[in-house]
Amino acid sequence: MTIDRDKCEKILREKGLKVTKQRVLVLGILAACPEKHFTAEEIYDLVKAEYPEIGLATVYRTIQVLVELHLVDKLNLDDGFARYEIGKENGSESGHHHHHLICTKCGNILSFQDDLLDELEKKILDKTGFYVMDHEVKLYGYCKECGGKLIEKRKNS
Ligand SMILES: [Zn+2]
Ligand SMILES: [Zn+2]
Ligand SMILES: [Zn+2]
Repeated sequence: MTIDRDKCEKILREKGLKVTKQRVLVLGILAACPEKHFTAEEIYDLVKAEYPEIGLATVYRTIQVLVELHLVDKLNLDDGFARYEIGKENGSESGHHHHHLICTKCGNILSFQDDLLDELEKKILDKTGFYVMDHEVKLYGYCKECGGKLIEKRKNS
């Protein structure tokens, strides 16, 4: 799913933000790749390609503003970097996001769309009366590549 420049501008206006070139660019980059998890430096490199005179500090500040308004989500995927992706409210039609699969061997981060947690949330509500509003799921393991290597190693030893 991609959102164009006009849509970015509209989202910014709806949130009461001034439409600036850096805000439109940062939002547009994240919205164009909802599956990706960018570091601030990666976002900076992409913004710079279109807006060479921009500084890293401005990009940091822009990201921060967008995070505060929940247009962008800040992620901690346990790899020592703050990573960013388009906020759930804008990134997907369902209002829901994806979950993160983290390879503990190579650090690869995969996105997983399916959500089988509705049933669990219903059970929790039935049993405890606790109403789940949101959840965040991180699954740790080995990606296809690393898992394959692991199995091969076991076979050979
Ligand atoms: Zn993600
Ligand atoms: Zn891996
Ligand atoms: Zn979910």
